Amino acid sequence: MALIVQKFGGSSVADAERIKRVAKRVVEAAGTENSVVVVVSAMGDTTDILLDLAKQLNEHPQPREIDMLMATGEQQSIALLAMAIQAMGKDAISLTGLQAGVMTDGVSRKSKILSIDCHRVEEELEQGKIVVVAGFQGGDEHGEINTLGRGGSDTSAVALAAALDADVCEIFTDVDGVYTTDPRIVPKAKKIPVISYDEMLEMACAGAGVLQPRSVELAKQFGVKIHVRSSFNYNEGTIVQEECEMQKELEKSMVVSGVALDDNVLQVTVFDTPDAPGSASKLFTALADARINVDMIVQSGNRTEQENDMSFTVSSDDKDKVIATLDKIVPEIGASSYTLTEGFGKVSIIGAGMITNPGVAARMFQVLAEKQCNIKMISTSEIKVSCLIDLADCNAVIAALHTAFGLDAE
Ligand code: ASP
Ligand code: MG
Repeated sequence: MALIVQKFGGSSVADAERIKRVAKRVVEAAGTENSVVVVVSAMGDTTDILLDLAKQLNEHPQPREIDMLMATGEQQSIALLAMAIQAMGKDAISLTGLQAGVMTDGVSRKSKILSIDCHRVEEELEQGKIVVVAGFQGGDEHGEINTLGRGGSDTSAVALAAALDADVCEIFTDVDGVYTTDPRIVPKAKKIPVISYDEMLEMACAGAGVLQPRSVELAKQFGVKIHVRSSFNYNEGTIVQEECEMQKELEKSMVVSGVALDDNVLQVTVFDTPDAPGSASKLFTALADARINVDMIVQSGNRTEQENDMSFTVSSDDKDKVIATLDKIVPEIGASSYTLTEGFGKVSIIGAGMITNPGVAARMFQVLAEKQCNIKMISTSEIKVSCLIDLADCNAVIAALHTAFGLDAE
């Protein structure tokens, strides 16, 4: 007898036919003796459609109302999936995030899960029901509905798997697993059979859209093994887990495991920040307080004796918040002005093998030079090198990097 958590993304439940197919798969997984908790996203593009609707009524809607609105998307799909499962003769019940005991921190649109009170879910499972939980949402101590950031259903699933001590957490999507790069850009991309949490986290943060980064962080923290696979076939997908010996062996020959693109990047430059202790601290504390994730950061060499320029990148989704924050903090710290620039993409190479193989960044820069591609910003971690470049160059650069690092399928 196993406890299985399955998560189905929006494309897997986009219409009635697909919901039926998901119901069939869930009922199969339950068989006669397994307990199944299913987490679902909103149907198809529902979340985008709702956000678009909101914009038509208010250019700057309050985040609380956005959460209230977006949470309805998942509420539709849980009810429909529960009905479809019941129609197959199996008992099921749908639960919203709050009903499933998902406690969040009260931050609209970017909430973190603080804890899960599994009481209700366990009770329903004991009664032999398949429990269908709304992904992407939870509630704070005042009963306010919070959402977990785009792609947050992955995190709901992993958090539930951790809280319930599930045997497996299967993330069903519309591709066969995690690929060496986006197969829509590079047809020679290959499916990665096994990947470590650290590499997956870097891939997810670098823009590989399969898993929400937070879900990988949680999986690593609680040792939840994730199986990313297609809801349209029965192929084995990608296992995300702690690095094993076999992978370490592989890294000796395969330095780079994946190439990722983030095309949702906004570059920000703050001019003439005083060259004195505390400038960066004040600037980035203000951004952190506004819950804005900052990615690449570059402080240029002194412009004058007293001033520096500072550039950094954020997600384009945070544009409104960035403007509101900088309008206030830039004059406060005594900087002169700031600019926001769109039209860049962040290309990253990721691989745990980089730690032991020198010259990887240099090779990446060579490839970009051969493509006559100008680099705006660079950032690195132990297992990742990222370059900010013109969006127009990204696809060609990704294909070239994929070839240069030996990732192309034969
Ligand atoms: N429906 C939400 C979104 O589109 C959450 C999810 O799909 O995971 O971002
Ligand atoms: Mg997703």
